[in-house]
Amino acid sequence: MRATARLLVATNELCGGHRPPPGHPDRPERLRAAVAGAAAAGAEALAAPLDEAAALAAIARVHAPALADRLRRACEHPPGPFDSDDNPVSRGTYSAALAAAAAAVVAAGAVATGGTAWVPVRPPGHHALRDRAMGFCFFNNAAVAAEELLARGCGPVAIVDFDVHHGNGTQAHFWERDDAFFLSIHRYPFFPGSGAGDEVGAGRGRGFTRNVPLAAGADDAVYREALEMGLEELGRVLRPAAWVVSAGFDAHREDPLGGMNVSDEGFGTLGRLLRAAAGKSPLVAVLEGGYSLEALYRSVRAFTLGVAGGAGP
Ligand SMILES: [Zn+2]
Repeated sequence: MRATARLLVATNELCGGHRPPPGHPDRPERLRAAVAGAAAAGAEALAAPLDEAAALAAIARVHAPALADRLRRACEHPPGPFDSDDNPVSRGTYSAALAAAAAAVVAAGAVATGGTAWVPVRPPGHHALRDRAMGFCFFNNAAVAAEELLARGCGPVAIVDFDVHHGNGTQAHFWERDDAFFLSIHRYPFFPGSGAGDEVGAGRGRGFTRNVPLAAGADDAVYREALEMGLEELGRVLRPAAWVVSAGFDAHREDPLGGMNVSDEGFGTLGRLLRAAAGKSPLVAVLEGGYSLEALYRSVRAFTLGVAGGAGP
């Protein structure tokens, strides 16, 4: 079954070069599973070569330049943890993290006038803070994509994060902003500890952050209801010109970390709800978590079919 609307996929083989030690959940093989899932949904490949200077400029909209400098130097003398034990680096980690952010930027540019782009990259991004790596994440790919859309005049931007973990890095970046709405649906309490329902933004950004904390074991119906409610609230606050999705698949029932109960088709439903809310607006979906290779492949296929406007099973 193929998507009925244009679906682009932007990635880079350099993302496979981030090689944490055996046993770390963010295995290089995740990349192939997430690319194959999109290909099975009929996605067209979009070239996303790494231009280091351009990538660093885009990353600098979200992160202190010192973070990229420190990461580059750490990768010259691997292996070892970087900022936290969750973030071991290998020689290829710096290039992988740069290429991931660069693919998100290329995707945002490609769909700025309409369409859907899927960005299967690793390392993931939504825990990364302005000056610190965290939770397997080095650069915040989704925030970088959102800033690229805003820089192109494609705002305000809706950012929806359905990774099982709270997107604390994205929340922190947009906390006082009223040109982006951040909606996160996640297990709570859980890593990284933030994401309570009373975290709503501050200053002019007050009311532009919405957290929907869920108890362990949440299934397709719970996620569907949470997303429908969150999207309704989002629609009352702003009319997005573009959408960025932090698509993590670690709420899948087969995931080794998440403790949730979402099925493959549950992610297809989330994709369809997001495309229905976005209408004809650009949408860039960036891979976050998802640590069962088989479940990741199937969930990505279902999600990308749904988010591109394809018919579900
Ligand atoms: Zn996660």
